[in-house]
Amino acid sequence: LAMATQRMAKRNALIRHLPAAETLGSATVIVTDKTGTLTENRMQAVRAHWLGGSVDLGALAPAAAAANPAFFEIARHCHGLRQVNGENGPALRGDPMEIALVEMASDAQAGDTRKVRSDELPFDSERRRMSTVHEGGTERVLYCKGAVEAVVPLCSAVFAPGADGGRVEPMSEASARDFLAAQDKMAEHGLRVLALAYRSLPVDAVRAVWETELVLAGIVGLRDPPRAEVSQAIATCRDAGIRVIMVTGDHPHTADAIAREIGLAAAARIVTGHTLAHWSDTQLQLALDTAEILFARVSAQQKLRIVEALQRKGHIVAATGDGVNDAPALKRADIGIAMGVVGTDVARDAADMVLLDDNFASIVAAVEEGRAIFGNIRKFLTYILTSNIPEIVPYLAFVLFRIPLPLTVIQILAVDLGTDMVPALALGAERPAPDTMRRPPRSRDERLVDWKLIVRAYLWLGIMEATAAMAAFFSVLAAGGWQYGERLAPSDPLYLQATTACLASIIVMQVVNVFLCRDPRASAFGAKPVNPLIYAGIAFELALMLAIIYTWPGNALVGTAPIGIETWLFILPFAVAMLLLEEGRKWWLRRR
Ligand code: ADP
Ligand code: MG
Repeated sequence: LAMATQRMAKRNALIRHLPAAETLGSATVIVTDKTGTLTENRMQAVRAHWLGGSVDLGALAPAAAAANPAFFEIARHCHGLRQVNGENGPALRGDPMEIALVEMASDAQAGDTRKVRSDELPFDSERRRMSTVHEGGTERVLYCKGAVEAVVPLCSAVFAPGADGGRVEPMSEASARDFLAAQDKMAEHGLRVLALAYRSLPVDAVRAVWETELVLAGIVGLRDPPRAEVSQAIATCRDAGIRVIMVTGDHPHTADAIAREIGLAAAARIVTGHTLAHWSDTQLQLALDTAEILFARVSAQQKLRIVEALQRKGHIVAATGDGVNDAPALKRADIGIAMGVVGTDVARDAADMVLLDDNFASIVAAVEEGRAIFGNIRKFLTYILTSNIPEIVPYLAFVLFRIPLPLTVIQILAVDLGTDMVPALALGAERPAPDTMRRPPRSRDERLVDWKLIVRAYLWLGIMEATAAMAAFFSVLAAGGWQYGERLAPSDPLYLQATTACLASIIVMQVVNVFLCRDPRASAFGAKPVNPLIYAGIAFELALMLAIIYTWPGNALVGTAPIGIETWLFILPFAVAMLLLEEGRKWWLRRR
């Protein structure tokens, strides 16, 4: 698990709770944010709409900008950004969308008046808006920006730009509708749309009424392109049988447009938070049966409901989040995923995994590694369990048939804590097979250790190793003239050589077994490149074996004696036989 988390970290997924690395591999659905995860979060304001028409911000004439100073003033001042001292002078840090709005105002060279911020109503994803209060000369003003549906209803007036300085008109039903229609049009092009409004704030106004009787200055559409690698990651999820469900606070049209761009949910059913609020849990569960579904304008609380509904349907849910409000959903999800770049500390604390680059594709990479973990643990379990049989059979034979003990306790330890160690670790570090993400997620009740694994390790590979070990033991004894029933002293050179032969054959068989355990079905001679750690493991194993057999400290410590070439030649056919038998079994299995 630890080695896998290191590989995941290299792919920008930081695991906070070790077991999550493995759970990831069984994820059947990913509930993902849109902004920053599927998109780049590199925003640019591209269109604006105010009373009198729409403008393209890329080609904005200075006169047009000057006609609506309030619009740019709000964009420049209403934000939660921090000023830091970067390499090239002062820079702004924080939400890329707010930075884009400040840049828009700078580019238009409008709204540059000095204003001191005295108070604010911070953004939260339930209100979907924020306000700042500024003192300028004799007047106090409030600037508000947020989702169009969250701001326009608070506006009692609208600003009509004009070369003469413009004027404030009462908000009519027609112009409110006009703004909503303009938002729909921008959103259909995948733009993120915000309304900008202001008011002058009397000194005696209480906080509760600050965000009322606003004057709408206009709406702005920001382009946030999808991440280039996300389409591929979505396609991978589809092959891997993992559902991807976008859950966003953004406008349904924006969500839909982005979903289409990344190949997610064409012709999807779009459910808004408003609809969801009227649904029972059963209705939600039924809706989740729809093949393609996405959720827009939902709150963090509703995200939690979606996660729970999916879990009730038997899904293993990975869910992303960045805000403070997302913490319950992240905790509840089987794998909570927080954003490393834009996320809050609260979200990170609640998460099992942190994405260092906020990128959806990194989730998919981590799932691939997570899937490999399960297989890898089974690989080295098979490997380690196999050598249990040639370790136990000698002892049983010793007790039942009153023969000299073929393998001593120290020699068993030499295998378990010595020669088996590094190759087993190497099997645990195998890379994901190329088809890892072309298989469906493993079923919830698939066990790490099942009968198939036990039978293969104990009754098939293990018996072969035990046969080799016992045969080698008796061949040495027989060659030395031993007869059944004869007792041998523990220091008898013949006895020492015989136990050494037993030990040596277990190790040789295990060298072959590493390759057999690399895949439960595929041939050891398959195209899959051998991970270098395997060779390192085998080199270590062989070096340790030679040290045990051919050096005096090894002999003294493990109770062994040097053995001759004829013993090695005796062992070899057993190793070849094991290889052929297992290859034959796999071939038969694949054909079936
Ligand atoms: P998501 O991250 O899923 O796109 P959020 O919950 O962050 O959704 O935002 C929901 C909506 O709130 C956005 O569509 C936007 O209208 C509004 N919004 C987001 N961030 C800000 C902000 N900093 N200031 C004002 N409004 C915002
Ligand atoms: Mg957000």
